[in-house]
Amino acid sequence: MTSSIVWFRDDLRLADNPALRAAIDRGDPVIGLYVLDEESPGIRPLGGAARWWLHHSLASLGERLRERGSTLVLRRGPAERVVHETAKDAGASAVFWNRRYGGPEREVDTRIKASLREDGLDAQSFAGSLLHEPWEVKTGAGTHFSVFTPFWRACLALPSPRAPLPEPREVHGPGRAPASDSLDEWGLLPTKPDWAGGLRETWEPGEPAARHRLREFLSEDLGSYDRARDEPSAGATSLLSPRLRWGEISPYTVWHEAVEAGGGGRFLSELGWREFAWHTLFHFPDLATKNLRREFDAFPWPRLKPTLLRAWEHGRTGIPLVDAGMRELWHSGYMHNRVRMVAASFLIKNLLIDWRHGEEWFWDTLVDADAANNPFNWQWVAGSGADAAPYFRIFNPELQAKKFDPRGLYIDQWVPQDERGEPIVDLGETRKAALDAYEHVKRAS
Ligand code: FAD
Repeated sequence: MTSSIVWFRDDLRLADNPALRAAIDRGDPVIGLYVLDEESPGIRPLGGAARWWLHHSLASLGERLRERGSTLVLRRGPAERVVHETAKDAGASAVFWNRRYGGPEREVDTRIKASLREDGLDAQSFAGSLLHEPWEVKTGAGTHFSVFTPFWRACLALPSPRAPLPEPREVHGPGRAPASDSLDEWGLLPTKPDWAGGLRETWEPGEPAARHRLREFLSEDLGSYDRARDEPSAGATSLLSPRLRWGEISPYTVWHEAVEAGGGGRFLSELGWREFAWHTLFHFPDLATKNLRREFDAFPWPRLKPTLLRAWEHGRTGIPLVDAGMRELWHSGYMHNRVRMVAASFLIKNLLIDWRHGEEWFWDTLVDADAANNPFNWQWVAGSGADAAPYFRIFNPELQAKKFDPRGLYIDQWVPQDERGEPIVDLGETRKAALDAYEHVKRAS
């Protein structure tokens, strides 16, 4: 008796999972597989908060597969070797997965698909993580977009995203599943010290919680989203980012349920930014390490002062809104979007620290750390990215606090009055230094 393997990656869900659906429809017993790949060349190791999320999300997925009659096999190592070995151990005749769009991931997947097929297996990939495939959204000249508004207009002009697939009630597994690692032994959870208390307080990973949060957001918050989405204390945003990052809910489900709940053009366009970031990564795989606009290579970053970077990381800059954001991040693995922009701008333009240092800190500490959204947004703030904020428009964190946290509720929540120190830099002077440094970029362009 043969079987079909569904190789789960950034799609830790049963509902609207095209690879799983295709495997079930094939008729053979279905085995779920997750590979912890920290060895294939170019694959970026997960950050600490992401590993915490992954542990719990895999535990949930494994349980849900078992409840429906199947199993989730966990294996560690370079995907190319591990997928083949598992297919052999399982006597599988098919391996299905939903596509990934990062450069090194695509290379791995392409090689695996070719070699599985050479061995006579049915290897197929499906679209499950983006509303539109990156190669399908093109300018009139056939190139990819570098500006969001026409990009999103082009997406909206395409046939609307397909309806989500229903969740399978049963997933027949094999009589005997191939051996699996134990999730606990992967050591994804922090132990010494266990810094994940704030994450546990804040989040419940897994598909059921993701669906619950979507429904709650659509019924309670969507109506005030346009008005209150920029206020960090309002709790008006969806908090779906880690769920979308891990694919516990599909963008198709979010899209269709948001449309049914009454539109939300603004909310839908945020999903559009997610698409834009991923399409940008698809066309520019070095997004996390190289300036998209190469003239920014001429930016004269001063020698790194580690004390300034540490002060920023630990929320001790003396700028209340920045410190509040950085403490929210450290505690919960999340930061409100408006505050992410302000904290990033402060690092880049007031501390004159290269955006890549900030991107790495976010990568390690965010539960939604996303291979496209994170570097894309850092480059957006830095001015070096796609359709980026002009460099010379430098956020003033005090004015931002007055505008978006006028009663100081957000700042009070994260930085008690008696912990507010003096600013570590002068906002006016550093702003001027940043604008002077920018002259080098202007000359290079
Ligand atoms: P909502 O406002 O409810 O938006 C719904 C969804 O749209 C989000 O879940 C997210 O998937 C998407 N989205 C919203 N804003 C953006 C955006 N600017 N770019 C791309 N997608 C967006 N988002 C991540 O998912 N992962 C990251 O690693 C990440 N790093 C960021 C770093 C910086 C410096 C900045 C300024 C922003 C970053 N963002 C990142 C984007 C944004 O801050 C978060 O997606 C958002 O705060 C998540 O909260 P939410 O789910 O409540 O958002």
